[in-house]
Amino acid sequence: MNNTNTYLYSEEIKKFFDKGEIKNEYKLELENCPVCNNKKVDIIFKHYNFYYKRCKKCSFVFANPRLNDRGSDIWYNSNFYNAAVETEYFQVKNGNRFLASLTLEFFEIALTILKKLSLTKSSRILDIGCGGGAFLNYLKEMGGFLNLAGIDLNEKAVLFARKFRGLNVERINANSLSTNEKYDLVISMESIEHANNINMFMNILKEFMTKNSYILITTPYNDKKATLLGGIWGDHYMAPNHINFFNLKSISLLLAKYRLEIIDYQIIRGNLGIGLIKNRLLNKRDWATHYPPISVEHGVTIPKSSNNHIDYVKYISSDAKKTNLQKSNNGEMVSPFYSTARKVYRLLSEHINLKCKTHMMIVAKEAN
Ligand SMILES: [Zn+2]
Repeated sequence: MNNTNTYLYSEEIKKFFDKGEIKNEYKLELENCPVCNNKKVDIIFKHYNFYYKRCKKCSFVFANPRLNDRGSDIWYNSNFYNAAVETEYFQVKNGNRFLASLTLEFFEIALTILKKLSLTKSSRILDIGCGGGAFLNYLKEMGGFLNLAGIDLNEKAVLFARKFRGLNVERINANSLSTNEKYDLVISMESIEHANNINMFMNILKEFMTKNSYILITTPYNDKKATLLGGIWGDHYMAPNHINFFNLKSISLLLAKYRLEIIDYQIIRGNLGIGLIKNRLLNKRDWATHYPPISVEHGVTIPKSSNNHIDYVKYISSDAKKTNLQKSNNGEMVSPFYSTARKVYRLLSEHINLKCKTHMMIVAKEAN
């Protein structure tokens, strides 16, 4: 246990920056809002050198500039990311068949939605960005689906899905997948928030669809209440990992651009506030992953051994002094006062359930 390597998010992303700006060789700067093409945006905050902006017209929130394909490839195969991926496999190998950074309950809700559609056991299903195949495996074992395929960019993830779960998964960029293949259901689970070009992403998803295909898209919900509670330290504001932050309005607008009409959706709520305060605000203002994995929380591992913990806290407190939290210009974002927040949250956590919108699941079809 003593030779566990700890990878810190803030350390891992340093290589992409020079004097606080993304290096040109890794930079992709969007000219307009990628949802509605509007030019005017508000800068809502800067976090770990990434600028988070909100479109004045459609309220879509996005990190801009962001990593280009070259930068993304490095990030998604970095030590930090690989350690997070390994955590899932560690858990699965230790008896939790379905574990992913998503909960089993999340999969259950998704399957319930899919059961309402006209799909059969032999329907052709493609999961784009399937990771280690957790959801495909769930569909196979709990949904009885027989015709499953997946693709992902991470090499470890694909190997795991193939070797350990016996799934038909390939390491391939969706851009280079043959689109002669069409599917009855295309799944994009917790992927679109990672895509550096959401329009290309939508085009790719559509390539695999016929006019009768369904698409299931799940993504974190950019909830105002959650942001108010967690501030910019919320789980989701973790560029270059998450760079697109949708709400129901912005995702509807994006889908409509591709002639896709929402036929069903579900908003998932969770007790976001307390976890954020405990894990992010008060003691750990960074994300850490480990190899070999120690334990799992929110899909990344949190240090358990005392030595790790001390190093971690030391690192965080020196970093914290340099960080200025900002308020958004519409007053939505609150700069947390840590000591007061600690007391308030201790009280609140005993008495109130602070449920926020955390994710949404959307089923869409080609509009008639
Ligand atoms: Zn917009």
